Amino acid sequence: METLIKKLNYDKMDLSLIREAGAIIRRGGLVAFPTETVYGLGGDALNPQSSEKIYAAKGRPSDNPLIVHIAEKEDVYKIARQVPEKAKQLMEAFWPGPLTLIFPKDSIVPDKTTGGLDTVAVRMPSDKIAAAFIHAAGGFVAAPSANASGRPSTTMAEHVVEDLSGRIEMILDGGQAVIGLESTIVDVSEEHPVILRPGVITKEMLEAVIGPLETDQALIAPDSSVKPKAPGMKYRHYAPKAVLTIVEGESKAVVEAVNHLAARAEEEGKRVGIIATDETADCYQYGTVRSLGARCHEEEISMHLFDVLRSFDETDVDCIYSESFGDAKIGQAIMNRLLKAAGHKVIHV
Ligand code: AMP
Ligand code: MG
Repeated sequence: METLIKKLNYDKMDLSLIREAGAIIRRGGLVAFPTETVYGLGGDALNPQSSEKIYAAKGRPSDNPLIVHIAEKEDVYKIARQVPEKAKQLMEAFWPGPLTLIFPKDSIVPDKTTGGLDTVAVRMPSDKIAAAFIHAAGGFVAAPSANASGRPSTTMAEHVVEDLSGRIEMILDGGQAVIGLESTIVDVSEEHPVILRPGVITKEMLEAVIGPLETDQALIAPDSSVKPKAPGMKYRHYAPKAVLTIVEGESKAVVEAVNHLAARAEEEGKRVGIIATDETADCYQYGTVRSLGARCHEEEISMHLFDVLRSFDETDVDCIYSESFGDAKIGQAIMNRLLKAAGHKVIHV
């Protein structure tokens, strides 16, 4: 299959192109599209065959449910059996935006879309291309991240081309995703809401709206035997080709330790990659150094994380050392993705 790649301009959106993309979804085809978090791989959420195609295109296990994307808040009532008061407050505060909510599922949503679960994940993106596309597609677009299973999520159309070209009908290119990390997921299907995946909408932001909130234990102790409530979180999301190790500690000590580790690795004939920040990038003396951006601007770090991880897969480095990030605010979401990529290999200095 030939994959059409279509560039779209946010200021002057080509509506005939949006209609064309929507028609592909209505016919049961697949279109990758930009959102503010990461690119999504879209199919008709109410068509089980479309969901099957999504799993096949990604090579994703079919027990890993898809998020249903909507463009109108009211549409949640058509696919959720119950919308609790706290969910309404969160929708009011954060939709459209990078927050996914889990509801008891209405029977209109095929089991294939939810990986057999009787709950459904719903998000209303704020990205303008995404919203127009969802409208054109009929209002309910199932979309996991538009990467091949096991690779980092895609934050620009070029990444989607690398992973899915030839497997889907169309890619809508809206440039770089501004957030760069997947949405925060909150389960509101039971009495006490629970965070299933950290994102840029933080626990503190959620608590300011609905009061105290639990975090899924499997996220706090990700190596434990506790089964995560978001099925996707149990999969090792991404393992870089090179061995990734996170080095944690005070900045100067981290730079020193990484320089030491990198020197030793090079002595052993290994090629080294270093994930740094603008503040430290010049302090590393060995290997290929890539900066995620300024540490003082967490948004830059999250925006560039997946791109930098992907870029190291294109080099022939054998090992990667990465700086670590604090747990406050977006830091928790950044560390959640980084730790998964590193298989939780951390050196404390
Ligand atoms: P992705 O869109 O690729 O970021 O993956 C979607 C994430 O949402 C996965 O981690 C899923 O396990 C999670 N998810 C989707 N639907 C549900 C659901 N009904 N209950 C819990 N987690 C879900
Ligand atoms: Mg994903």
